[in-house]
Amino acid sequence: MAQPTFSTHVGMVDILPDEVRKWHKLEQIIHQEAKKFHFEEIRTPIMEQTELIARGVGEGTDIVSKEMFAFERGEDQYVLRPECTAPVARAFVEHHLEQRGGTQNLYYIGPMFRAEKPQKGRQRQFHQFGAEIIGADDPAADVDIIAFMMAIYDRVGISNTTLKINSVGEPESRKEYIEALKDYFRPHLDKLSSISQKRFENNPLRILDSKEEEDQSFIEDAPVITDFLTEETAEHYQRVKELLTELDISFEEDPHLVRGLDYYTRTAFELISPDLGSQDALGGGGRYDLLIEEIGGQHTPAVGFAAGMERLFIACQELDINLVEEEMLDVYIVTLGEEARKWGLEHLPKLRAAGLSASMDYIGRSIKSQMKDADRENARHVIIVGGNELAEGKFTLRNMKASEEDSYTFDKILDKLTTDIN
Ligand code: AMP
Repeated sequence: MAQPTFSTHVGMVDILPDEVRKWHKLEQIIHQEAKKFHFEEIRTPIMEQTELIARGVGEGTDIVSKEMFAFERGEDQYVLRPECTAPVARAFVEHHLEQRGGTQNLYYIGPMFRAEKPQKGRQRQFHQFGAEIIGADDPAADVDIIAFMMAIYDRVGISNTTLKINSVGEPESRKEYIEALKDYFRPHLDKLSSISQKRFENNPLRILDSKEEEDQSFIEDAPVITDFLTEETAEHYQRVKELLTELDISFEEDPHLVRGLDYYTRTAFELISPDLGSQDALGGGGRYDLLIEEIGGQHTPAVGFAAGMERLFIACQELDINLVEEEMLDVYIVTLGEEARKWGLEHLPKLRAAGLSASMDYIGRSIKSQMKDADRENARHVIIVGGNELAEGKFTLRNMKASEEDSYTFDKILDKLTTDIN
């Protein structure tokens, strides 16, 4: 085969027809669970102003400092969105969604873009589903967000996960903590990985996120943020844990859990799967009480999560979870001769109008290859139409699974097939 002239960019993949059905199924599960939890979908553009992401996600983060697909056009600076919380927060402020009253419970599904080094579970264009509760500072909102996320994995059948939680405090307590962390790491700086040495300068919290072997023993003994929380935040965290226990959602406290985005305050969480290899996070989230103010809105507490769809599919594969049943075609019309073809073209819309999925040959293939085609398309039934059938007004209906056939009028066939699907 000749080498194709064009290909996708590295880290970006086509989702081909054979795979797309599992995406539909997952999307369907997300929409259904969202309905149960009373979340409304929001769709924002895939491009945002660079400044929104820089301010929202944080200049010191990996995402903003090195992973943005950003470009200029005239005066405007665009970025392909690397995540969707800042865009949703922007939409909330821009459209005064608070005027709709109550909390805004929003969810989204869509592609995100980060110029990371591609590997298993890490792409440059990937997909997330996620949700936000905007306008509530009660711990019940944190727990509802977590419950919504977990419900989706439950429905899919991924259950051997670990929910890790932590409280990352507010700016004041975090500032104090970061100082303590720096004091702790400073004497060991030359023994830390080069990535962590860099992070020591721009974002010391992220040292705790390091996967580098040489950092692990230092991380283990590092001070924990939970020792620095204000009384109010400590109480909030305590209440989140109590509510999770009441809802039977098991969790592990991880006092070193920090997230790669700067906007988090108080509750932070991550859902980990042992089936994912080194990129083991299925999803994560937390509270971001200051983000909306940071991007120009009123002070509005909020909490959300985002989860990777490709990683969910990797976990499914490892666990042998098949998200889709085999796609069946209800009926395929096999025709012999020009008249029969005409009949087929006239009757195809009638089958479809009755709610059946129906197809036929368009390119004048032999009966044998039409039967093969029907097989390939997983047809449950085949209607065979030739000169005799047209003369008699009765057509052969073949049940492909049972390998049985009989002759009926078209009306009778329609009747039989529609009873079958109902
Ligand atoms: P984050 O927005 O970084 O908290 O990521 C939330 C989730 O999105 C992660 O837990 C992953 O499941 C998924 N994710 C993040 N970055 C990528 C990527 N580059 N490729 C695939 N999935 C990703």
